Amino acid sequence: MPPTQQVKNGLSPEIKLNETIADKPKPPSKNGAKILSQLYSPEKRLQEQISVFLCVVVMTIHSILLIRYFQLSNLTYIIPAMFAGIITADFASGFVHWAADSWGSIEIPVLGKAFIRPFREHHIDPTAITRHDMVETNGDNFMLVIIPIAVSVLRFSTQTLDEIQSNYAFQAYTFSLALFICLTNQIHKWSHTYSGLPWIVTVLQDYHIILPKQHHRIHHIAPHETYFCITTGWLNYPLEKLRFWVGLEWLIERITGIKPRSDDLKWAKVS
Ligand SMILES: [Zn+2]
Ligand SMILES: [Zn+2]
Repeated sequence: MPPTQQVKNGLSPEIKLNETIADKPKPPSKNGAKILSQLYSPEKRLQEQISVFLCVVVMTIHSILLIRYFQLSNLTYIIPAMFAGIITADFASGFVHWAADSWGSIEIPVLGKAFIRPFREHHIDPTAITRHDMVETNGDNFMLVIIPIAVSVLRFSTQTLDEIQSNYAFQAYTFSLALFICLTNQIHKWSHTYSGLPWIVTVLQDYHIILPKQHHRIHHIAPHETYFCITTGWLNYPLEKLRFWVGLEWLIERITGIKPRSDDLKWAKVS
């Protein structure tokens, strides 16, 4: 039985995977991977560098404001708010990953090469991400949080002290969500890295606090149709049980007539 079939049948996928696939990812489709990596342009690099810079600036200001307005009485709801932020980030990672893997193509003007290409490259050369530097790995995720965090910073400066205190839990939630969105692709990169990881990262993976290697490997079985969440991966099993992604794909295909992953499959066949 193929591993994806085992996942669909609700068997314990991680146990079954140990029995069915080799320990290391398969070698990439060289030509497809080469073409895709060559499409990484200087303009794209600049967008990532600007994103990293602006994100670090707004996140730093936001964290300073959170510390400045912190009160000990906030603690009771800060912890649940931050936990909710991590869960939301995991869901968001799954949703964006699912959308980019399953729909659209790199032929879409500007957006295709800039934002869909890395997802296509990752399926045919999963280890390429381990050769990407900090900017290439994290630039796009950092970009996503700039505007929401800038808006949160503005809210601090336009509200009264009472309003700030009553909105503090939401601000803590927003910060946690943004932080884990920023960390997502780094965590994803670690899940593909087989040597030289800091010991703390290995411990966090082993206790499934962040995405473990073995867990993420389920997504890398063609046709890459499940386990899309890549921050903590906590939502992968429940979403699979609920047939969440299959249901969404069924709905979209019924409405639009477009089959999911047709572009991804096309790149997988480039040899
Ligand atoms: Zn994928
Ligand atoms: Zn991966």
